[in-house]
Amino acid sequence: MTIQKIAIVGAGQMGNGIAHVCALAGYNVLLHDTSPERIDAGLATINGNMTRQVSSGRITEAVRDTALDCIIPTPSLEEVGAADLIIESATEDEEVKRQIFSDLAPYLGEATFLATNTSSISITRLAAVTDRPERFMGVHFMNPVPVMELVELVRGIATDDATFAAMRDVVVRLGKQWAVAEDYPAFIVNRILVPMINEAIFVLYEGVGSVEDIDKVMRLGANHRMGPLQLADFIGLDTCLSIMQVLYEGLADSKYRPCPLLVKYVEAGWLGRKSNRGFYDYSGDAPVPTR
Ligand code: NAD
Repeated sequence: MTIQKIAIVGAGQMGNGIAHVCALAGYNVLLHDTSPERIDAGLATINGNMTRQVSSGRITEAVRDTALDCIIPTPSLEEVGAADLIIESATEDEEVKRQIFSDLAPYLGEATFLATNTSSISITRLAAVTDRPERFMGVHFMNPVPVMELVELVRGIATDDATFAAMRDVVVRLGKQWAVAEDYPAFIVNRILVPMINEAIFVLYEGVGSVEDIDKVMRLGANHRMGPLQLADFIGLDTCLSIMQVLYEGLADSKYRPCPLLVKYVEAGWLGRKSNRGFYDYSGDAPVPTR
């Protein structure tokens, strides 16, 4: 079966990025979220990001306009079911994702593939709430999607070879590189990356270093492109916390205990860039540390 129509569920920072690259690769894209306003916000971001690509000469205006025309705002879940492939990229919360897959069930075509962009949650467990675990897979994009080259491919226990091949072919058509991870909590990238971020938050919590110095030492001392607190704000502190909770519960090891300061920031609604405040305040011209 040839995949032509891809639906994205969740038009947040990752979902709109996935819609962006799918549309540029010539797929027809259905973009869904909980409300038409959220879909519009996602579309506005895609428009802005593609226009930046035009300004930097990476795509032409005609390519942008054709790609934007390929993205159909789709508030109805029933219409989402008509896609050949549905990529779920909603909030990193297992209950939210399970509900989406069970709500979608009555509307799915017989051959529809299901994928999730989860950063950490078990693919096998999510697949088990669907009627087609053999056609279900983890397809984990990196942030920002239009820029980052890698996609992690994660099979659930029941994923069949044809589904793996179909998802790999989509990733290749998007111009991305792929790596295979087994279905263990947080897979490869976030199993390594997010505990490092959590440790940086412990360093701040214990007063070992300031926000600016923690980021500076990792940028200049470890040659990371972004400091870990800057990166946490970029990923979203709610997403970082969810990943730590999945690691802590899934591996039953106290070394994955989420830092209490991370918990407190999320409880305060300080989620990083997406809420304009996290370890930095983004309301002015330049980010200002919040501690
Ligand atoms: P986000 O908060 O920017 O967006 C989440 C979107 O999901 C919101 O627009 C929200 O309205 C929508 N949503 C919530 N419940 C929904 C529902 N029932 N139906 C449809 N839409 C719903 O978060 P994000 O950073 O885009 O993360 C989305 C997914 O991508 C998560 O699973 C996350 O772990 C994963 N991911 C995130 C990153 C990252 O760096 N942020 C990287 C890779 C993967």
